[in-house]
Amino acid sequence: MTRQAIVLGSGTSNGVPSLGKHYPPEYLANARNHRTRPSLLLQGPTGNVLVDCPPELRLQMIREDVFDVEAVMVTHTHADHVMGMDDLRSLCLKYQRPIPIYTAPRYQEDIRRIFPYAFQQFPKGIWVPRFELYDVPAVLNLGGLEIRTFWVEHGPLPVLALRVGGFAYVTDVSHIPEEAWNQLTGVETLVLDAVRYKPHPNHFHFDRALEVAREIGAKKTYLTHLSDDYDHDKTNAELPDDIELAYDGLRIPF
Ligand SMILES: [Zn+2]
Repeated sequence: MTRQAIVLGSGTSNGVPSLGKHYPPEYLANARNHRTRPSLLLQGPTGNVLVDCPPELRLQMIREDVFDVEAVMVTHTHADHVMGMDDLRSLCLKYQRPIPIYTAPRYQEDIRRIFPYAFQQFPKGIWVPRFELYDVPAVLNLGGLEIRTFWVEHGPLPVLALRVGGFAYVTDVSHIPEEAWNQLTGVETLVLDAVRYKPHPNHFHFDRALEVAREIGAKKTYLTHLSDDYDHDKTNAELPDDIELAYDGLRIPF
């Protein structure tokens, strides 16, 4: 059975191309410069685990032929990571049960506030999304995978990061605390935030992401949560062999 991660969305919070901006036709001609908001799918031997629910969630899952989700991990509750949660209603309807959502208690409160109707009773026949909220254990056994969880810092906020075997996903990060460094030891493939070229208070920017990638020393690092600063082919041509930009639809076996 396949064990792989699919980068469903490799874009930053406003997506690429961004609304209201003009881009050169050459830029838009490259499909890899079209980036939906950040999310990841872990495909295990017995099921799929979704990491974050951006506004394009439905389109991402249809694009990648994803028909089922066993559970969802929410890294944090910024709009680019949760505003597609309503799309999970079709799966609740399919399974006739709520979808398990794993996140920090503070983010569970946000989800209840943003989607109050997902927790209310409705007359029979009215279908809304249904969420069952859970705290995040150190190890999550889902989809036939052993997913190790840890927390990084995104400005003042904690963000959920994960490791499965030699694969790690660290989105929305400006600081990696020591416990998280330990979790990243020996990682083979890393997906890491590199929002833009200029420094950013709450994200690794390009130069910082390269430094951190070097320190972690994965065989391959894919940069993600990318703004329109990056022209996929041009940036890749300048990067060393072991570092590349992620793109929507990228598949990483683990
Ligand atoms: Zn984000």
